[in-house]
Amino acid sequence: MFELEKLVRENIKRHAPYSCARDDYKGHEGIFLDANENPFGNLNRYPDPYQKELKAEICRIRMKAEEELFLGNGSDEIIDLAFRIFCIPGKDKVMIFPPTYGMYEVSASINDTGVIKIPLREDFHLNVTEARKHLSDPALKIIFFCSPNNPTGNSMNISDMEEIISEFPGIVLVDEAYSDFSDKPSLITKIKLYPNLIVMQTFSKALGLASVRIGMAFSNPRIIQYFNRIKPPYNISTVNQVTAMKKLGERITTIEQVKVIKSERERLRKELESTDKVRFIYPSDSNFLLVKVDDADYLYEYLTGKGIIVRNRSSVADNCLRITVGTKDENNRLIEELKNIQ
Ligand code: PMP
Repeated sequence: MFELEKLVRENIKRHAPYSCARDDYKGHEGIFLDANENPFGNLNRYPDPYQKELKAEICRIRMKAEEELFLGNGSDEIIDLAFRIFCIPGKDKVMIFPPTYGMYEVSASINDTGVIKIPLREDFHLNVTEARKHLSDPALKIIFFCSPNNPTGNSMNISDMEEIISEFPGIVLVDEAYSDFSDKPSLITKIKLYPNLIVMQTFSKALGLASVRIGMAFSNPRIIQYFNRIKPPYNISTVNQVTAMKKLGERITTIEQVKVIKSERERLRKELESTDKVRFIYPSDSNFLLVKVDDADYLYEYLTGKGIIVRNRSSVADNCLRITVGTKDENNRLIEELKNIQ
């Protein structure tokens, strides 16, 4: 059975959050002599620590309550905070399904947390039978699903994920960074059904604000409250909050861009498949293709020499390049260079 208080580290339960000036006085009007800010300028004030305006707008769009949302300095901050809330260094473990997004393991290493690796099956879907063998391990605190998965590009089966979410007494974090490029449903609608579920999305992909660094975690308010208690007080700058707000007001542009990226993805797939350099392209629900070739190291160097930078993923998927879908012109350059190889 899932019992949140048993999962949270004791020191985090005892922890008294930093109380900042903006926590003591929440009004907007007045002469502010409380935060040691410089009185001159227009970026001289500390940001809203809880990003209320931005959260209200995200929640209006996603149809969630504001207490169900946490914003991090990118998804990467959310991943790290999850380790700090739930995993006792040197003792606890998480589960990942490689090949997958590298930051789960990097954060585990920084937080001195063990990693149970259950490799994806040959079709890049979850091996539920293997995962199930570890679900009652008391040291296992967090399971990371990445769907659509990076670098394979495919979505995990919702039924596989739900089976594990409902059986596992720990936290399940589903990373949906690429879900806007997929036609499969998001698990965000299930956060009320599963009290152990955290669904993570980001401004970095479909919303086109990777430089702005805003990740979103949707979960039940009791879990969200722990993230708020341990985050750095001003983790999202005012400049970034304002930029993100503006972006949410440009919904039509975002929808159109996603449509173009999805259709370019399929055009790129067909074009690449027609070259003799490509052996196989895996199905993709994301804004990239995982492409199996004969000699990934050679092709990677060749393309780099032509000024086209792709990601060589051979270390995690045999002879595979991960190619992000670019603009039509960028994709055409890539296709042209591949067709021109002797
Ligand atoms: N999750 C996945 C699966 C990713 O591939 C990436 C970045 N490539 C991220 C999260 C990082 O997101 P953010 O920019 O919000 O930190």
